Amino acid sequence: MARRILFLGPPGAGKGTQAAMLANALHIPHISTGDMLRSAVDAGTDLGKKVESVMAAGDLVSDELVVAIVDDRLDQSDARCGYLLDGFPRNIAQAQALNDAVINAIGTVVLLEVDADELVQRLMKRAAEQGRADDNEQTIRRRLEVYEAETSPLVDHYGDAVIRVDGIGSIDEVFSRIALVLARS
Ligand code: ADP
Repeated sequence: MARRILFLGPPGAGKGTQAAMLANALHIPHISTGDMLRSAVDAGTDLGKKVESVMAAGDLVSDELVVAIVDDRLDQSDARCGYLLDGFPRNIAQAQALNDAVINAIGTVVLLEVDADELVQRLMKRAAEQGRADDNEQTIRRRLEVYEAETSPLVDHYGDAVIRVDGIGSIDEVFSRIALVLARS
């Protein structure tokens, strides 16, 4: 069965980790706009040069650029039998663009829930360990604000398709919860 799954949740909720594990288990591509944009920045492409400072500030890259990247990615043959979107859509306009681009609408939306204090702690820890350009205190705060303002309205937008999963616990515990709710959906 083709599965089209979307992961929603604030920065630091563990979306990237859980999305990669789930996509692997379901044999569908994990499409992460954050990863694609970071690769472009690392490779120094034209796109990377355009988005580098916006990402470092914790702001959203323009809808036009991101929608074009996702459109191209969803056109690739491996996405025909389903995919897991991580980090896209990030606002209502992107969700509408996705509906236009994809004939079969998203089936399941997994919302990973983690409270704000825990998010900041996790992101600061990651900042110390990994040195991602946007993991510093000021940018972390900005990314959380952007999530609240721009992305969290998608929870209502997707309504009944949204499955809430508690993101507190070990990676394996959270993964088991996700697998369980998806098996029931
Ligand atoms: P996080 O969820 O931890 O903030 P991501 O890897 O999903 O991490 O995103 C990192 C940055 O990449 C965002 O802060 C933003 O600048 C950019 N980005 C990723 N996806 C999108 C998107 N769909 N629209 C606009 N900007 C995006």
